[in-house]
Amino acid sequence: MRILNLTDPKRMSYSSNCFLILGDWNGMEDINTLVDVGNDPSIVERILAAPTGVGTKTVEQVILTHHHVDHTGVLPRIRYVFDPVVYAQSRFIEPDFILEDGQHFKCGDRAFEVIHTPGHSADSICLYCQTDGVLFVGDTPVIIRATDAPYDARFVHALERLCRKDVRAIYFGHGDSITVGANIVLNESLENIRRANRIGEPRASATRARNELAGSQTYESSKISQV
Ligand SMILES: [Zn+2]
Repeated sequence: MRILNLTDPKRMSYSSNCFLILGDWNGMEDINTLVDVGNDPSIVERILAAPTGVGTKTVEQVILTHHHVDHTGVLPRIRYVFDPVVYAQSRFIEPDFILEDGQHFKCGDRAFEVIHTPGHSADSICLYCQTDGVLFVGDTPVIIRATDAPYDARFVHALERLCRKDVRAIYFGHGDSITVGANIVLNESLENIRRANRIGEPRASATRARNELAGSQTYESSKISQV
């Protein structure tokens, strides 16, 4: 598997990383895959210049980590030029198919698994390749150092699942990837979240007690963290 980050960091438009996953040898059976398309129209030129070989479709499928415009803005242009099959977790950007948690895909010459990770947005997903220990996270906040705000149980559960994987490299929606100590980073984040939720518990129960004393029927809904 080859992973190319086609994003031009010098461009002015606010855009996510756009990764092109290719097979090692541009085999006929490889599935050339974009993970996010970004918001920079010049990405099309760089995709056309990428070493995708002959025989395979330049972009056969697009997998979107979530619907935010910096990750999906040029999707109409990508569709027009490359005519790929588009996958996303929500219907917001009208994908061809909805991604399901646990679904498996071939990307390049490798198998990937979809892991639903709600937190940054309700439709956030990660893509995991067990063979190489590669994890694409989009904007899912997997580096968490703060311990001062409670996190939603669904996100904690998703991070626990990521921590059980053998993750050796993390590719983010923005910035550089991590290729050393990726599993350690995930586990430290989970520990910080658990600490934050333990600290948050007395505060939440005190609020409930106050509401009950006041005869109020309003309860604080659990907080979904936006990082
Ligand atoms: Zn986002």
